[in-house]
Amino acid sequence: MTVKPFDLFIIGGGVNGCGVARDASGRGLRVGLAEMNDLGSATSSASTKLFHGGLRYLEFFEFNLVRESLEEREILLRAMPHISWPMRFVLPYAPGMVFDPTTPLSRGLRFLMPWLAGRRPAWLIRAGLFLYDHMGGREILPGTRRVDLDRDPVGVPLRKEFTRAFEYSDCWVDDARLVVLNAVDAYQRGATIMPRTKVIQALRVEEKKPMWEIHTQHENGSKQVFYARVLVNAAGPWVTKVIGQLAQQDGQETRADTIRLVRGSHIITHKLFNHPKSYFFLGEDGRIVFAIPYLKDYTLIGTTDVPHESPDEPAVCSPWERDYLCAAVSRYLHRPVEKRDIIATYSGVRPLYEDGAVSATAASRDYFLRLDDAPGAPLLTIYGGKITTYRRLAQAVLTSLEQYFPAMGPAWTGQGAPLPGGDFPVDGFANLVDDLASAYPFAARQLLARLARTYGTMAHQVLAGAKTKEDLGAYFGADIYARELDWSKRHEWVVTAQDFTQRRTKTHLWLEEAQMRAIDAYLQS
Ligand code: FAD
Repeated sequence: MTVKPFDLFIIGGGVNGCGVARDASGRGLRVGLAEMNDLGSATSSASTKLFHGGLRYLEFFEFNLVRESLEEREILLRAMPHISWPMRFVLPYAPGMVFDPTTPLSRGLRFLMPWLAGRRPAWLIRAGLFLYDHMGGREILPGTRRVDLDRDPVGVPLRKEFTRAFEYSDCWVDDARLVVLNAVDAYQRGATIMPRTKVIQALRVEEKKPMWEIHTQHENGSKQVFYARVLVNAAGPWVTKVIGQLAQQDGQETRADTIRLVRGSHIITHKLFNHPKSYFFLGEDGRIVFAIPYLKDYTLIGTTDVPHESPDEPAVCSPWERDYLCAAVSRYLHRPVEKRDIIATYSGVRPLYEDGAVSATAASRDYFLRLDDAPGAPLLTIYGGKITTYRRLAQAVLTSLEQYFPAMGPAWTGQGAPLPGGDFPVDGFANLVDDLASAYPFAARQLLARLARTYGTMAHQVLAGAKTKEDLGAYFGADIYARELDWSKRHEWVVTAQDFTQRRTKTHLWLEEAQMRAIDAYLQS
């Protein structure tokens, strides 16, 4: 054997793979993780970026998923107050609004109250929000309130026909940083994290015990072989492709469930409104579209549910999705959103567990784990899931592997353990920026606030020893200095300008082509 065997080898460095790596290494297991591209470069950086219970899932009677997700919001918020924060959502209400006719609630109402014809009376929406407020052990987040849109500032950008709204709480999260911080934590607890490394083959072999023999190839062409007691397939949209490869090479039967690939796109415009709250708009087709304040200067609008052929087909926002999103928000806003308002788009593919649902929108967002341990070394496959449930999913993975590692530590991630940089109180962000400002008085507050949002208390490490602005090194635009690039190269596996500007930070929207090239050149040097 070339290297000492791992207990657990994980294929895929999205939120689920990195979450499992963190949990497992914190319990004392020897963990290896291979990600074929950059960490979080697939679905986990293309989400709507919400820790949410999923208000719409109540329409599908997915009470368990909603309750678990609601409970998670505050556990996660406490663990990472730098990259996640509470957000209020405004749901404008008009009596004529029609909801998705295919949901179980719609079908039930059609039978019990046919006169509603797909509409929802205000009391029913209020009842749903009451459940949402009380199902998930809410302590930090404020509850639902009614809003008079003629008087409240949130009514200003809306068309006059909307006079009433409900306002409820969920949380924002920087999805790509969530992934990398889980990887950093796993690494600090002993895991081997290998970005840009593809698993090209995995075979069940018999050494002293049954083992997995895992063959990888780095993007520079170099190949390596690893051994592990258990293999975890967290390949997201590629999950069945990986199983297909294993089954072929293994010569043994590996059961593959099916997934449904559903693309979701977002459009980004310049700021459409001047307050920090988000909108929850119901489209004409009964689907929901969010309009969310994004990165201080922008508005994020999404999302769609479009069947997607293959994980290898690039996920891009189609003209139809772009027009659909513009039309969905324009029904509500004074000033319609048009194609020319869009400054960027992004898309991701949901790897949903195939539950036979009638539509992509109706397919469950819950996760499903399959443990395959016969014969030889075990394989655990992850299907579906949400950013919001990644911690619980990781815990469930470890619970189902307890039988193979009886000496491993107990569950620990739900007990207030912060992610790197998140060791400060939920309401302590302003204090953290103040601390940084007194330690580094030469630095602009805007830069310090961005560093605090990105690195939390680790911002002190990024700036350690700097006495003047010159100590920050070369300047690249958008508050980016060489010092931060050096730090993220050393501590966060940054290789390209894209890794840094689109995932470790979200600075790309402020940068010109030439500035991106300069960052790339610096990182390669
Ligand atoms: P991924 O992030 O796709 O990770 C899988 C990784 O495996 C990839 O990086 C891939 O490169 C790697 N891989 C594949 N094959 C190999 C191989 N052979 N070797 C090495 N690596 C390999 N959830 C929420 O909770 N809140 C939201 O607001 C939300 N919004 C969403 C909006 C959209 C449009 C979409 C698409 C999803 C949204 N989700 C949301 C769901 C959430 O984003 C996903 O459930 C989650 O990101 C899936 O993570 P993952 O780790 O399973 O997959």
